[in-house]
Amino acid sequence: MTSPTTITPTTIQTTARSLRRYPRGTVPKSGTSPQASTSWTAPSDAVAFPSMARYDSAAVCRRGHVFTAHAERAAEIATRCVKCGAAILTECPSCGNRIRGQPSNLHGAYRPPEFCDDCGTPFPWVTRQGHIYQLQNLLDEADLDSATRLAVHEELDALAEADLPEEEQRKRWERVKELAPAFWDSGQKILVNIVSETIQKSLGLP
Ligand SMILES: [Zn+2]
Ligand SMILES: [Zn+2]
Repeated sequence: MTSPTTITPTTIQTTARSLRRYPRGTVPKSGTSPQASTSWTAPSDAVAFPSMARYDSAAVCRRGHVFTAHAERAAEIATRCVKCGAAILTECPSCGNRIRGQPSNLHGAYRPPEFCDDCGTPFPWVTRQGHIYQLQNLLDEADLDSATRLAVHEELDALAEADLPEEEQRKRWERVKELAPAFWDSGQKILVNIVSETIQKSLGLP
């Protein structure tokens, strides 16, 4: 670390200003830059803090294997995953937004996001827990009294556990359907991803 210096509010302000980063190719227009000058460019030697850095884009295969968390810096992006052969995605299949990679100044362990940070659609590698969150989000918007909502919420929490015995899963899904039939119907597209085929049949899912 550097030797201790007295930090005044002015120092902090100046530092923050010199660290400001803008997405590549979007140099601020006149009047919006800190110096309000058309010739303003982002400082090339800026060392931003993680919280101030923008996110790079990621390239991730459909099963969630990470090709890169910094697609902007990759010389090329493969079309297929070398671990599983699946197609590699570079954008949200639903809205076309970039897949959030790592902050541009961070390297190291990276887990791809399960949901698009723009439209909220789950990526193909979303986990069982991610699907449960999706169902709970839907539940929050369903027209239910709070006691029923809470009961269904708790069933879903229990069902996030993938190792539950089949019979217990069936009972819990059945209870969800009984408690909130309209919610059950509206969640079918999500349910088919996490309800086993046997249980789907016994509960009348298409
Ligand atoms: Zn893969
Ligand atoms: Zn999206």
